[in-house]
Amino acid sequence: MTKFMQSTRKKMETHGVTKTAMVGGLACQRNSFLFDGFKTVVVSCEPKKDKKGKAEGYDIELQDTILFPEGGGQPSDSGLLRIVKGNGDSSTINKSVQVPHISRSGLHAKHHVKEPIEPGTTVEIVVDAVKRMGYMQQHTGQHLLSAIIERKYQLKTISWSMGGLITEKKSTLEPNDYFNYIEINRKLTEGQITEISDEINQFITKSPQEITVVERISSGVDEVDTSKIPDDYDLSKGILRTIQIGVIDSNPCCGTHLESTSQIGSILILPNQTTVRGSNSKVYFMCGKRVADYANSANKTLSNSKSLLSCSESQVPEKIEMQGKKLQQSNKREQYWIKKLAHIASEELRSSLKASGKRRAYFMEEEFGTLELLLQIFKGISTHLNGEFEAYEIILCGYERQTNTGSLLILSESGEKISSLASKLGSMLQNLKGGGGKKGGKWQGKITSISNAELAALTDYLTHEFIAH
Ligand SMILES: [Zn+2]
Repeated sequence: MTKFMQSTRKKMETHGVTKTAMVGGLACQRNSFLFDGFKTVVVSCEPKKDKKGKAEGYDIELQDTILFPEGGGQPSDSGLLRIVKGNGDSSTINKSVQVPHISRSGLHAKHHVKEPIEPGTTVEIVVDAVKRMGYMQQHTGQHLLSAIIERKYQLKTISWSMGGLITEKKSTLEPNDYFNYIEINRKLTEGQITEISDEINQFITKSPQEITVVERISSGVDEVDTSKIPDDYDLSKGILRTIQIGVIDSNPCCGTHLESTSQIGSILILPNQTTVRGSNSKVYFMCGKRVADYANSANKTLSNSKSLLSCSESQVPEKIEMQGKKLQQSNKREQYWIKKLAHIASEELRSSLKASGKRRAYFMEEEFGTLELLLQIFKGISTHLNGEFEAYEIILCGYERQTNTGSLLILSESGEKISSLASKLGSMLQNLKGGGGKKGGKWQGKITSISNAELAALTDYLTHEFIAH
C-alpha cells in the first residue's frame, strides 16, 4: 500500500465515507435532468494503468454521481469535477478536473481523470448537458421506435446501436455516421416507415406520454426479463430499473431517459435499410437536435452541389448523370486521338531510325505526355523493331505540365544499352525511378517532379544525342 493510499484510507475513516451509491441507483439514473451543482464526496482515487502497465491517470469513485457510466447502449457522459474548498461553499471553487469518461465496474461507477483528487474532498459535478441531452433523445427515441414497430408489426428489436460516437478506429465522423439503427427481422416498406414516423410524431406533438422509472431491488423479481442485464452486474445486490413510456412500453434499462416523449423533439427514419444476417434489416433513424444538425449539413452539401452544377436542387442528380455521360464521351474521344497520334509517332520513329546511322530516335510530348500515350507508341513500333533493325535505341518521353510529372520508356535490343541510358537519364533527372529491360526490350520509368533546368537538360540531350523524328 502506497503512502498516498494509506493517507486516503485514513481520510475516508475520518470523514466516515464508507457507502457509495451503486450503479442502478445513481443520482443520474434517478433524475436524468441533474446537470449542474450536484455536490458529493470523493471516496477513492486509484492510479490507473493501461494494458502495457503504463500510468494512465486515475480512477475516482464518488459517493454518488450525476455522470452516467456507459451501459445499456448509452455511451458514457463527460463533464467536470469542481473541487469545493471548505466543504460546501461553492464560491470557493478554485479548480476543475475534466472527466472525459466514466465506466462501470460491477456495481461501481469509475470516473477517469488525469490528476488525482484526495479522498474526502467535496466536489461539485457538471455534466456536459448538450451531449447528454443528445444521448437521451436518441436513447428514448429508440425505446419508442422499437415499441411502435413491435406493436404495429409484431417485430421485435434484436439489437440497436447509437451512432455519432468518436472511437479509436474512427476519429472523424461524416453526417451519415450520426444515424442510430435498430435491427429487426425483416425489411419495412416505405409506407410502413411513413406510418411509424407519423405515429411517433403524434407522441411528440399531440399526445405526449410521460416516461417513468420503476426501481426495484432485483432479488426475488422474476417476472422481468433480465436477459439484457450484463453478466458482471450483480443482480442479487443491484437494482432493477424498468422504463415505462405511458401505457405504450415497459422495458428493463439502466440508461438515462427523457421525462416525456415530447422531449424527443423530432425523428428522422430512413426508408433505405441495410439487409444483414440473411433477411434481417437495419432501420436507420436519428432524433432531437441531431435531425436539425443533419438537415444543416445536408443543406450545405446540396447548396455546394447546386452552385457547382449551376442548377436547382431537384436537378442535381440529373446534372451529375449528364456530367458522367459527357466524361465517358470525352474519354472515348481521348482514346481515339491517343491511338491516332501513337500510330503517326511510331511510323515517324521508324523512319528516323532508318535515317539514323546510330539507329537512335526519340519522341517527346511536353504538354499531355501521359504514360498511356507512350505505351501506345511502344505497342505500335514494337512489332517492327526486331524484324527491321538489328540494333536500336529509342527514348519515349512524356511530360504532363499540369501535374509536373513525367513518364519515360527506353527501348533497345540490348540490356546493356538500356542500363547505360537509364543511368545517364537518372543522372539528369533527380526524381526518375523505373526498371525492366535487363535482357533488352523495354525499361519503364516515372518522374515524380521535374524542375525547369532538368527539363531543359533532357531536351538538350535528346536533340543532340538522338535524332528527332
Ligand atoms: Zn433505456
